[in-house]
Amino acid sequence: MSQQGYVATPPYSQAKPGLGGYSTGFGSQPHYAHYGGTGQPYSAAQAGLLKPVPSPHVPSVSAGHPTPAPSPFGQTHLQNGIYNPGNQMPSYAAPPPCSGQTAPLQSHGSNSLSNYQNTAPPLFTQQVTSQLGAMQISDHGSSQVHPQSSPLSGPPLRPTFQGSQPQQLLHPISSPTSQGLPSAVPAATVPPGMPPPSPVGMHVGLAGPNQGSVGYQQVPGQPPMTGYLPQQGGMYGGQQRGLQPNYPAAYPGAPATGAQLAGPQQKKLDPDSIPSPIQVIEEDKLRRSGQLFVTNTKGQVPPLVTTSCVVQDQGNASPRFIRCTTYCFPSTADMAKQSQIPLAAVIKPFAILPPNEAPLCVVSHGESGPIRCNRCKAYMCPLMQFIEGGRRYQCGFCNCVNEVPPFYFQHLDHIGRRLDHYDKPELSLGSYEFMATLDYCKNSKPPNPPAFIFMIDVSYYNIKIGCVKLICEELKTLLDKLPREDQAETSAIRVGFVTYNKVLHFYNLKSSLAQPQMMVVSDVGEMFVPLLDGFLVNVHESRPVINNLLDQIPEMFADTSESETVFAPVIQAGLEAVKAAECSGKLFIFHSSLPTAEAPGKLKNRDDKKLVNTDKEKILFQPQSHFYETLAKDCVANSCCVDVFLFPNQYVDVTTMGIVPMSTGGSLYKYNNFQIQTDAEHFLNNLRKDVQKPIGFDAIMRVRTNTGFRATDFLGSMYMNNTTDVEVAAIDCDKAITVEFKHDDKLNEENGALIQCALLYTNVAGHRRLRIHNLTLNCSSQHADLYKSCETDALINFFAKSAYRAILNQPLKTVREILVNQTAHILACYRKNCASPSSAGQLILPEAMKLLPVYMNNLLKSYVLLGSPDLPTDERAFQRLLVTSMDVVGTQSFYYPRLLPIHKMDVNSEEFPAAVRCSEERLADGGIFLLENGINMFLWLGLNSQPELIQGIFNVPSFAHINTDLISLPELDNPYSRKIRSIIANIRNQNPYSMKLIILKQKDKSEGIFRQFLVEDKGLHGGASYVDFLCYVHKEIRQLLT
Ligand SMILES: [Zn+2]
Repeated sequence: MSQQGYVATPPYSQAKPGLGGYSTGFGSQPHYAHYGGTGQPYSAAQAGLLKPVPSPHVPSVSAGHPTPAPSPFGQTHLQNGIYNPGNQMPSYAAPPPCSGQTAPLQSHGSNSLSNYQNTAPPLFTQQVTSQLGAMQISDHGSSQVHPQSSPLSGPPLRPTFQGSQPQQLLHPISSPTSQGLPSAVPAATVPPGMPPPSPVGMHVGLAGPNQGSVGYQQVPGQPPMTGYLPQQGGMYGGQQRGLQPNYPAAYPGAPATGAQLAGPQQKKLDPDSIPSPIQVIEEDKLRRSGQLFVTNTKGQVPPLVTTSCVVQDQGNASPRFIRCTTYCFPSTADMAKQSQIPLAAVIKPFAILPPNEAPLCVVSHGESGPIRCNRCKAYMCPLMQFIEGGRRYQCGFCNCVNEVPPFYFQHLDHIGRRLDHYDKPELSLGSYEFMATLDYCKNSKPPNPPAFIFMIDVSYYNIKIGCVKLICEELKTLLDKLPREDQAETSAIRVGFVTYNKVLHFYNLKSSLAQPQMMVVSDVGEMFVPLLDGFLVNVHESRPVINNLLDQIPEMFADTSESETVFAPVIQAGLEAVKAAECSGKLFIFHSSLPTAEAPGKLKNRDDKKLVNTDKEKILFQPQSHFYETLAKDCVANSCCVDVFLFPNQYVDVTTMGIVPMSTGGSLYKYNNFQIQTDAEHFLNNLRKDVQKPIGFDAIMRVRTNTGFRATDFLGSMYMNNTTDVEVAAIDCDKAITVEFKHDDKLNEENGALIQCALLYTNVAGHRRLRIHNLTLNCSSQHADLYKSCETDALINFFAKSAYRAILNQPLKTVREILVNQTAHILACYRKNCASPSSAGQLILPEAMKLLPVYMNNLLKSYVLLGSPDLPTDERAFQRLLVTSMDVVGTQSFYYPRLLPIHKMDVNSEEFPAAVRCSEERLADGGIFLLENGINMFLWLGLNSQPELIQGIFNVPSFAHINTDLISLPELDNPYSRKIRSIIANIRNQNPYSMKLIILKQKDKSEGIFRQFLVEDKGLHGGASYVDFLCYVHKEIRQLLT
């Protein structure tokens, strides 16, 4: 290989100084129940950095188009599409079999209408009732409904609510004692005459109404009742503060167990009697698994993310693309404020659709580009109402009446629907794509295909751990699998390679060369790319040269003693290459250490455990210099996405090094103390997934809504240059952006709440596209409607992302308090406005939110929010970044891991064994359990595991013979082995991240790392058990209601 030193004037300047960091950034003042006002992590927008793209998303009234005055929706207007204000029957209910292309089957339509209502079908009610019948009831149950003892003064229940909530049942369970402490009053003290099912929410009798109201009630400002005296448990010490609990503050490290709380005499609250995530998940599966979910109805609550079903798009985006915290918005801001339920949508624009669902159609509206509303710029969609014989249409978002362009004209049928309704995806479907015209391209030029640049740290440590050789070997085959357009034979993506330690090495891989040429840039202060021609090449054309290089790299640096690395200049180099090639791109950086070499972005070890649990703890989550923020901004402006694979053996300041991936839509992977024998496969699986992922580049997302509310806040791995446009250098199929909505007016109950998400991007072939997702939600002035349409999994996604951002500005203690307060408020508002009068001693939870406390407690106990000096700062920062881009599936399993009793698996069935609750109590000495949370996976072996199963899975005669160093299970030809390996493979396939399997035995020293995932128990590093948290929330609710 020829090698030449390069000392040249940089032809491309790097990030200009003076562009400013985002110093004003990271949010806003703490205020109750909401995190961070503007919300943009980087709010110091610099006009000069705006992309030169004339963003078609920016609403502007074009001078060339007359903008008709908004006309109220006249009754004379004929109805069309699902925007259907005057028509009771959605036009989708009985689609005419006209053109057939997208016409749904009649049976599907009717099926969906009957089975997919918000209210539970009778079957479900019966199931729950029978379960309750079998349930043991504690002695306070007989007096559960005591209107006269209720402190509530809420309005009487409305008949509509009562009638529509058959699934909400009285759920009395064991009770605390008269001191208000959790206790285990022996169950079944109530005779079979069960308390009558109540039409209201789930009742959890945490305190017997007879005595409970005494035991729990506490006058704000007064010392707490004896049972909660801080001395006793050292925990809920803040009762004196009345409505301001400092429960969370007492969290970290506090021995917050129910037992301690309750004192030695107290018995424990029966865990079987409090809402079980497993039961909720299984019941939803029973009701909806394997069914067709037809999206033809406004405000339909989809099945849970844990239930698999087939989605048929009939006018609303699939829940795979958009999930909402509630499918019924409150009609006014006041009502929203009362309930404090966040109104948010978790949008995953590139979600992968399973093979049995129709892929998105691509629509072309010709040279003039997609048809859009003149006023609000919303794209043509099922929410546009055609009127005047089809010559005009009224925008469902802003009511503006627009002319239909002559080429698009079509007659209407007798119900006012265009005759070509089912021929046009943009009229009949919730999700589709438009071909974008040059107006939508940077500098009005068609984009070039994107580039992938592989940048390998070849310092001493990375060579020593075998990482460099591993990467080079893998790339030889992986380069054949770069993403490509569906029909394309080869990928259009060009590739480039850089190696680096303190200096950078670029490689000329022009196909005409016999050998790759290396060019060294040692002046890392002013990074530039020393070659244009030959750096980014077509894999197919340059294959021999690329392979030659990948063979040579490990050898070239095999004897290196260089241990210092740079990091920011590596990103700058990739960025400059992408800029020079006038394309978008993705950098894959494989890096091991804190970049301490003298260069821009040099970092120092600033980890400081003493900050934990102080007001300065937030510093650990703020980057140590603004340099990386500026760099991230520059990357986004030039559509350069950055993925970083970290191989640290000590602190590397993940917070700072993760800024660029996090702001550009990239990913961060971390392999602590990487060992080739045990971690190679795990890493390679992640790399393979990452490289092959469906992805869109140079993306701008805009969320439009109808009058009455708007998108106000955005959470995710992205960048905001202004308050409305989400910018990402690239967005892949696993990234989700959570959008919060706020009222700016009253919502019309008839129209509902309409959302259109438009994502402009460049696909892997270099074609500019607009991906549109539409969703219609209900709207109501009744709290009950709001509460029954909530989705806890989506709520937790929102709470997690907003809390993880809030810790940049606020002490963790404050953030935890806000979360607990908001939980109590949400549940208290339900109690006040929706539940039938009953004893104050009962905890009443809305059916759709009965898991909110358990998930919330697990969020509070997560590494990020826990504030324990035992937890590595890098690990906390890493989890924070992971969650920030997660979808609802990701946060659901992350905050409530799946625990599968392998010893109960049915080897003759395709199904997984039914999961059990994440608590030590559910483990059994004779059992084998698989636990996974989307990131980690464990196989736990009970001391008395069945020898037959051990033989089948491990091929050893006994428990003692099992080698827990295995990184995968042996491939044995017996049903046990096949079944467990298929379960593991299935779980891995469903997840964006590869999970390393860790095998451990009961009572082994390493068991602790497993036990921390038993999230219903008291946390190993602090944090309350589920039971204790529920008791605490109950107390808070009662305080709010008195
Ligand atoms: Zn409009």
